[in-house]
Amino acid sequence: MTDSIYEEIGVSPVINATGTKTRIGGSRIRPEAADAMQRAADGFARISDLQARASTLIQDATGAEAGYVCSGASACLTMAAAAAIAGTDLEAMAQLPDTDGLADEIVIPRTHRSGYDHAYRVAGASIVDVGTNDAHLGTGSVNTEPWEIDRAISEETAAVAYMQKSYTDPPLETVVEIAHDHDVPVIVDAAAELPPVTNLNRFVDLGVDLVAFSGGKAIRGPQTTGILAGREDLIRSVAAQHLDMHAAEPAWTPPSSLLDVEELGGVPRQGIGRGMKVGKEELVGLITALTAFLEDDHDENATVWRARSERIAQELAESPGVETRLTAAEKTSVAPEVVVSVDASVADSSAVDIVRGLRTEHPRIYVGADDLDADALTINPMCLTDDEAEYVLERLRTYL
Ligand SMILES: *Cc1c(COP(=O)(O)O)cnc(C)c1O
Repeated sequence: MTDSIYEEIGVSPVINATGTKTRIGGSRIRPEAADAMQRAADGFARISDLQARASTLIQDATGAEAGYVCSGASACLTMAAAAAIAGTDLEAMAQLPDTDGLADEIVIPRTHRSGYDHAYRVAGASIVDVGTNDAHLGTGSVNTEPWEIDRAISEETAAVAYMQKSYTDPPLETVVEIAHDHDVPVIVDAAAELPPVTNLNRFVDLGVDLVAFSGGKAIRGPQTTGILAGREDLIRSVAAQHLDMHAAEPAWTPPSSLLDVEELGGVPRQGIGRGMKVGKEELVGLITALTAFLEDDHDENATVWRARSERIAQELAESPGVETRLTAAEKTSVAPEVVVSVDASVADSSAVDIVRGLRTEHPRIYVGADDLDADALTINPMCLTDDEAEYVLERLRTYL
């Protein structure tokens, strides 16, 4: 902790006990990926060749026709929307995010709406949400009826979007069937749905047209990477709208798997994705990290995470006024989190005091703050080392 580069440049380091959160740097990049990035930095390759190489790997990993690396899962969603709206039409690509005269609606079940919807709107899409919040509120039994999605699709529809969580409904199969009946693609946000590693194939197998995963969460690649997997024609549209396009046509020989020069009929202008570029280092890092992720012992990781959480839960439960429990791994996080409920009338501090206090320490300690309303803080084992877990326990005890 003391030889941290953050320390060296005068920035307080963070001990991450809250999981793969972008605002504190996501995940711990795999050493082999960091090493590969260092080597990539010292030379050159065509970005389009690196994307074509990544596409082959993503095909193998997911079973999709093609793949692409964007600057995060969020950027994947923007590019997915741009591909769904513009297809291979050069003029439409150049026009985005202005969608005058283009089908630009993305239909989303209301309970799948999230802050990440903004990623679709960046490309010019307008969101049409359908259904209710009845099942979540307890005011009815069904949030979105399949027919509501069916009726919302029109000539103006570019895509149907789906947020994949273990508890989202209607079932993805049903949504895919409805969308495909109308010849409309389905985009799935599965940014945080790895592991299980089987999810890499699952959505492709269910027939979705594009699915996005974060490269910087459990894959532990560079923070600014995301994987888009899906239909070849849509991935070609993504490439045409994302790659640097300042090319002289007579000398333009991009890899044919990514850019079909005949199909396009001309050189695209810099596209909507140009500002979300991915460098050679990130591409090499992601390729290395995804390869390693596929070879990981995921059972072993799960065992380590569970043991770490169980130990933390047991230790903290010994303090007066504190109760602990583990969340089921499937609910909101891929690893079991420790929920630490603090009764401020018995313990020395409240959950809010502890969360705020830990964040101002040096190094800062980040525990989860999503359950403060219920007087609880959470601890996620994924981004901690054993030493850091001990340090977090030691610091927590001083508040209790
Ligand atoms: C993390 C996350 C994203 C964004 O992923 P980035 O790779 O950070 O861009 C999008 N959607 C969901 C559901 C996420 O959890």
